[in-house]
Amino acid sequence: MTVAALLPRSWKKRLVDTNVEGLRDRDLAWADVVLLSGMHIQGDSLLAIVERCRARGLRTVVGGPIASSVPAAELKADHVVIGEAESLIAGLALDLERGTARPVYQASERPEMTTSPLPDLSLIKMNRYSTMAVQYSRGCPFNCEFCDIIEIYGRRPRTKAVAQVLAELDQLRAAGWREAVFIVDDNFIGNKARAKELCKALADWRNRYKTSFDFNTEASLNLADDPELMQLMKDAGFNSVFLGIETPDETGLIASNKLQNTRRSLLDSVATIQSYGMQVMGGFILGFDTDREDIFDRMVEFIQKSGIPIAMVGLLQAMPGTQLFRRLRGEGRIVDAGGGDNTGERLNFLPHMDAAKLVEGYRSVLKQIYSSAAYYERVKLYLSRIQAKSGRQPAGERQSRQQWLTRSNARAFVTSIVRQGVFGRQRWSYWKFLLTVTTRYRHCFGTAMTLAVMGYHFQVMTQKMSKALEAAARAAEIEEIPVRVTIGG
Ligand code: SF4
Repeated sequence: MTVAALLPRSWKKRLVDTNVEGLRDRDLAWADVVLLSGMHIQGDSLLAIVERCRARGLRTVVGGPIASSVPAAELKADHVVIGEAESLIAGLALDLERGTARPVYQASERPEMTTSPLPDLSLIKMNRYSTMAVQYSRGCPFNCEFCDIIEIYGRRPRTKAVAQVLAELDQLRAAGWREAVFIVDDNFIGNKARAKELCKALADWRNRYKTSFDFNTEASLNLADDPELMQLMKDAGFNSVFLGIETPDETGLIASNKLQNTRRSLLDSVATIQSYGMQVMGGFILGFDTDREDIFDRMVEFIQKSGIPIAMVGLLQAMPGTQLFRRLRGEGRIVDAGGGDNTGERLNFLPHMDAAKLVEGYRSVLKQIYSSAAYYERVKLYLSRIQAKSGRQPAGERQSRQQWLTRSNARAFVTSIVRQGVFGRQRWSYWKFLLTVTTRYRHCFGTAMTLAVMGYHFQVMTQKMSKALEAAARAAEIEEIPVRVTIGG
């Protein structure tokens, strides 16, 4: 939507987000040129679309994060845009109109986000989404070895002006949006002073419009060190935050340069953030060189004690362009230079631990943490923490509860009852959980039910992945090489 706003006004545009809808032949027949964007993990799908366009003789332009980490020739597009759009798109559009577009456009510097336009919201089918996205900043000041964010967007956090963010929210509100907004930054608190300034403005904005917008975002764990910032985020309506926790093993954190997570109790830091009414979602990684065979048990134990319901555990990936990739390539350990994806379906380097053991251990972690009993225990722990600390609902709960009864979540709730409570294999855990929520955590009902539905998604995905990973572990054992598994759905 931001790129669309940078293109000439005279161009007619369609936006097809293949996360939520199919790309139809008639869309391609309508177009003169197709601009594609994606992240590395979406590479296969993106290349398939490029191929489809080429077969029709349709001109293609590929940009987005993937263009910064994959050699331009591999993208097979007519034109590749490397870098951020703000400084490049006007020139590209002019060249396309004149028929003089070059194969590669590369930004010479990273633009200030104050030059970023208001996204063109008219192009999106909002009813297909449960959250809308607003990007406030790019870049992160930290220096984690495995991270491609800092390679692509740099270590100096760049932010939009407060007025730009409020204009985006005004636009969403005017379009009828009343639900969650994901502040989709690399690290929302990369510049804490500016984040505080924005939070104050968001709180005022919500009060002014008495709006039900809730916010969620991604941040680094040092959020727990700043009570003022956590309070401001709570006041602004942030009800969840994704943190890269990575591993409970401090030697792994030090080795991967995730120093902001060291010299502290990770569990206490998580609990501190939760006590401000913010649900913590956690990212975890298995496969560091420092991992020993007890890492799987330690990971499960940590996640269970953390009260983090949504724990996203993945196998380490050496993303092209990262410090990790360069180190492993130097050590002759890269086996797939194209990189992998971080949902554990692909291992693109030779790990220190036996590959089969690593994959099997990963499978066992997923199975354990997404068993119904373990999952609901974490949700209850989280609910007890927010209730005990604040004695009231998590941020945005009141509005969420109203939405539960009036919007699409109500349908999801009924579906959840049918699928989890009637036909689900672990339906007794589900009903036990519902009973606990209605007797002990009534004030958090919306949050609890949202988490129950999300948990079901993770249970289904875990079952699918578990089968695939089992086969992958066997293959690794036989072939003594890393594995690749593809999981549909
Ligand atoms: S904190 Fe997150 S975004 Fe920042 S460098 Fe580390 S992994 Fe990357």
